[in-house]
Amino acid sequence: MKASPADQRRLLDLAALDATIRQADEARRNPAQAARVQELLAQRQVLSAELSRLLGTRDDAQAELKRLESDVALVDARASRDAALLQKTSNAKEAQGLEHEIASLAKRKSDLEDAELEIMERLETADAEVAAQEALIATTNDEGARLSAEGKAAVAAATARWEGATRDRAAVAESLPADLVAHYARVAERSSGAALLLRRTCEGCHMVLSGTDLQALRQAWDDDVVTCPECGCILVRTDESGL
Ligand SMILES: [Zn+2]
Repeated sequence: MKASPADQRRLLDLAALDATIRQADEARRNPAQAARVQELLAQRQVLSAELSRLLGTRDDAQAELKRLESDVALVDARASRDAALLQKTSNAKEAQGLEHEIASLAKRKSDLEDAELEIMERLETADAEVAAQEALIATTNDEGARLSAEGKAAVAAATARWEGATRDRAAVAESLPADLVAHYARVAERSSGAALLLRRTCEGCHMVLSGTDLQALRQAWDDDVVTCPECGCILVRTDESGL
């Protein structure tokens, strides 16, 4: 393969653009934030399930408190009625019965109020647990929203980079002989495509070439397209190649 030294140097632009295209393509397909966003979505499901459980516990406590309050109201009504009857009655036996019932009702009310206090404490704990869980979910949602936005921006930036590099690559490829571009493309399938030979080192694989290899390169013409004996990429020679 023959190509002018200038065209050979242009292959370095092509290789750099191909590297940018590959990197941008990878970045737009797999933004760095994607894995964490998936993790947060899974985490939110677990947190939401736990919140449902906590809300259930709180609802149960609220219902129980309501039941106790209505029981207290019933006891109060019954005690008021008994007190009124006691005022009116002149029957000693009936009065004794009413007094007995009023005392039982007072005891019952005291028990109910103790139970109410206990439930109110449970309700307070349940409220605090619900609030803490909701705060945790809000934090998770905030991080998820922030990372999603960052991921979208990264994908948009990578897409713009990919489009720009693809346009530039087409322009560079068009300015070069078609057979040289085809040769480069074949070589690029299994190497970095084209690289500079700088101070006896291939910039594609960073290997220092042996004396024998350098001797062979010295014997090549400037317009010979040569390849690195180590990695197979096209070696672009300049004054700084160390030949
Ligand atoms: Zn190499």
